Amino acid sequence: MALQEHNYWLTTADFPKIEARPLPDRVDVAIIGAGFTGLSAARTLAQRGAKVAVLESETVGWGASSRNGGMVLTGMKLGVNQLISMYGRDLTRRMYAASLATVDCVEQLVREEAIDCDFSRCGHLEVACKQKHFDDYARQVEVIAREFNHQLRVVQRDELSAEIGSNIYYGGMVDEVSAGLNPARYVAGLGRAATKAGAEIFERTRVEGLQHESREGESGWKITTSRGPLWAREVFAATSGYTSRVTPALQKKLIPIGSFIITTEVLPEKLVQELSPRNRMIYDSKNYLYYYRLTPDRRMLFGGRAAFFPETDQTIRRSAEILRRGMIDVYPQLRDAKIDYVWGGTLDFAFDIMPHAGQLDGMYYAVGYAGHGVAMATYQGQKMAQLIAGDKPDNPFVGIKFPGAPLGLYNGKPWFLPFAGMWYKFLDWVS
Ligand SMILES: Cc1cc2nc3c(=O)[nH]c(=O)nc-3n(C[C@H](O)[C@H](O)[C@H](O)COP(=O)(O)OP(=O)(O)OC[C@H]3O[C@@H](n4cnc5c(N)ncnc54)[C@H](O)[C@@H]3O)c2cc1C
Repeated sequence: MALQEHNYWLTTADFPKIEARPLPDRVDVAIIGAGFTGLSAARTLAQRGAKVAVLESETVGWGASSRNGGMVLTGMKLGVNQLISMYGRDLTRRMYAASLATVDCVEQLVREEAIDCDFSRCGHLEVACKQKHFDDYARQVEVIAREFNHQLRVVQRDELSAEIGSNIYYGGMVDEVSAGLNPARYVAGLGRAATKAGAEIFERTRVEGLQHESREGESGWKITTSRGPLWAREVFAATSGYTSRVTPALQKKLIPIGSFIITTEVLPEKLVQELSPRNRMIYDSKNYLYYYRLTPDRRMLFGGRAAFFPETDQTIRRSAEILRRGMIDVYPQLRDAKIDYVWGGTLDFAFDIMPHAGQLDGMYYAVGYAGHGVAMATYQGQKMAQLIAGDKPDNPFVGIKFPGAPLGLYNGKPWFLPFAGMWYKFLDWVS
């Protein structure tokens, strides 16, 4: 088959058919964005009896939630030593425990809602691109065991063939608790689950304006959309890398970064066994990293920050070739494998590369997943829903400092991305 500029996962999933209905006049909670965060929040809030409208400018799962690698990962983007130096031991312990709980949260939701999305606790493997990255693994494993009571395993270079059919790495680190799933099927299932709980989803409904407005003595929001206005007592922004000028304060704190993926044709079983004998979710130790895995139907899915800028026809096309070369560097065995699909999506990075949740200008939000969002977004959706419903859930990402751009030099247009790309490449070179 010729190369398709299309998200492979979408060819495997049935999305809920949602009829276009008139918007309600008022709701308890309006959620902007129908990805993992928004739908998970909608399900929990509706189960608690709230009247919920999910407003999505495109369709369910259109954003990063259907486009990602499907890696359900423990930990956070930043390493544990850095987390401890930023937040101290106690808060980092709570954050790490939360990161483990995020994977349980996805598993429980998949089970409760019987979502057919190939969820499997196959574990993840991080591979070291340099000897000093590998040397750091032993230190990390020791800190994680001592501080967080969680066991990872170091894999020496000469044992790595049991984990991966590539000899370019200096060793690896395995966490058996991480999982994999098919993200498009998962987000489609979450959409169904939110609807079943009683939430209403409005597709092709772009939020265009938000204004504080009281009604009958109750404070709330007048929301203008491409399909008319509505009023909500609370607003929850779940817009991740697609956050726009509609929520300017949030937009200024987030950097949208493109990430791209290719998948090969279906591979022979013997080759599959050689490439990834334990079917792990794999990523490397660079800042400008590659992440890869087998799909349930045995394609190699290979992703990375090939172009850095968010997805356009041009960046997607360019990424296909860059990623193919990257894949062959890792796996020369795939030199002749055909690439069937290429696509891209947008991630959201906060300036401190941490997830953040809470309230800004009176509006709730959960963002900043930095490529670690499948599990964390689902979890934050639930936790923020509990908070909006009046509970006091433990959520260590609420209330931590949420920095903006240094010197405030950012209005939401990431003019510095080419420099950031070069900076990350430079860091990979020197570190
Ligand atoms: C290529 C790629 C690979 C990735 N791989 C992984 C991985 O393997 N593991 C992992 O953990 N994470 C991964 N991620 C990150 C993960 O996919 C995201 O963190 C997660 O999906 C974020 O979910 P979300 O619901 O917050 O946002 P999204 O799924 O991006 O949803 C936001 C939605 O908001 C909507 N929206 C925005 N503005 C408006 C508006 N004004 N009105 C109405 N709707 C609006 C958008 O249309 C969009 O659908 C990857 C991301 C990408 C792009």
